[in-house]
Amino acid sequence: MSTTIAKTETTEFVNEIEAIYEQPVTYKLRASSTWVTKPNKERTIFESLATIDLADKKNYTVQPKNPNPPPIHSIWLERFWFFYTVSPPLIIHALWYYIVPENNYFHTWHPLFAFLFYSVAFFLIITRIADHCHYYMKYYGTFDEHNRPRDYVPDKLVTRLVMSVLIYILARTGGGLLLGGYDRNSPPSLGHTISWFFPIKIGVWLIVLDFFFYSYHRMTHTIPFLWKIHSLHHCTKHPTVLQSILAGDIQELIEIFLIPLATSFVLPLTVHEFWIAQCVLIYMEAGGHSGIRAYWPHIILYEVLQPFGMEICIEDHDLHHRYGKSGMNYGKQTRVFDRIFGTISERIECLQK
Ligand SMILES: [Zn+2]
Ligand SMILES: [Zn+2]
Repeated sequence: MSTTIAKTETTEFVNEIEAIYEQPVTYKLRASSTWVTKPNKERTIFESLATIDLADKKNYTVQPKNPNPPPIHSIWLERFWFFYTVSPPLIIHALWYYIVPENNYFHTWHPLFAFLFYSVAFFLIITRIADHCHYYMKYYGTFDEHNRPRDYVPDKLVTRLVMSVLIYILARTGGGLLLGGYDRNSPPSLGHTISWFFPIKIGVWLIVLDFFFYSYHRMTHTIPFLWKIHSLHHCTKHPTVLQSILAGDIQELIEIFLIPLATSFVLPLTVHEFWIAQCVLIYMEAGGHSGIRAYWPHIILYEVLQPFGMEICIEDHDLHHRYGKSGMNYGKQTRVFDRIFGTISERIECLQK
């Protein structure tokens, strides 16, 4: 597998992190990824954690061209999977609240305990999402796999990726508790910390967030200073699931803190709505970077946006990475603003007949 591919294709690639900033990554060249071939006991703690991102070996080798168009993946199957995966922490919290007597000190959760509980839960959900994507990457294959397979995380970026994921988990969980105004005395259940209309509320929130994200993301591709910040995320043409979180420090600050903060000023969510919304975000981010070769649209916004050709699917962000700096498909939750502002690109494999 991989050692040969990784080594032969890296001969011209300057294998330093600075080079990733200063030199455009070309379609064929790939950074060195020797960590994937190391025996487990020789891996650093960061390399061991980065194995969460490893898909099947098949996805890292060129495949024969698939003559069939990508299948349409069942959105209802995904909705069921998502509910089944994301709801246990909410159910545990609610059961705890209603079962432990009110006069018991532990009836409600201290904010610090809630932070730890939801951080661990978020980590476990991210690993479940990664496994889920890996299963379908193997089952359906990946886009453009007949030309070029997926990229391993480069050696130089393993530590940064793992740190980015950990910061992402802690910041998004803590930010959700703060922005949602966590109140330990509010019953953690439907009608209290979760509106009965939460899918609509979260759907609107995601569209507002996508407006802020689109604006920021398009600027990063057109303003040289911002491209320097964003180019780290574009060090791969064919990313994998966790590489969705790979970013430079400033980009992390903007994406993890400022964009959800701005969105929450426009439409505040409660603490548990925020939890669901951030799970949708990471689920869509992971899918968008998995390259799964299927028509796989947004689990909340599909029916609303599809009649207008504004629904997003996995191929859209996959193409964004192939375009690199030249851009197109800047939205990550919708194609609303790409459609309005003329930055939408035609799908390739999903248009196959
Ligand atoms: Zn970009
Ligand atoms: Zn990306």
